[in-house]
Amino acid sequence: MPDSTTNTEALAQRLAGCGLRATPQREIVYQVLQERRDHPTADEIFARVKAKMPTISLATVYNCLETLVQCELVKQVHFERESTRYCSNLVEHAHFIDTATGRIFDVPLSAANLSQLKDALPPGFTIDDVELSFRGTAAASAPVTPATTP
Ligand SMILES: [Zn+2]
Repeated sequence: MPDSTTNTEALAQRLAGCGLRATPQREIVYQVLQERRDHPTADEIFARVKAKMPTISLATVYNCLETLVQCELVKQVHFERESTRYCSNLVEHAHFIDTATGRIFDVPLSAANLSQLKDALPPGFTIDDVELSFRGTAAASAPVTPATTP
């Protein structure tokens, strides 16, 4: 896992690529998303960020999230009837939702998996993005952050 300095530099570079600068607020929101990849909602992110930066407002956290999504550093994840969640894992993956506990897991997708999914489409359809989610029950011992390649 990259250390926080590397993360901060990577974030600054990526933001600069979008014509934006890294601010302490953007850095801390990004850091919180990297620390625990459990697909938090904006409210949960706000609570975690506030513990580190008590003066930050919810509106600022929303603005930071919007910026990170725009710069493709973070993805929004939508599940039926639920608040938007945020995922900082940019490797292609599906989600597994434990319907009993609400926990959300990343399920890595291999190039072969993706290619098979794309084969299911009729001719003439072009994919911009794939959103795949499973619902079910995860073993209690399943790690909150399953092994995913960075
Ligand atoms: Zn995810």
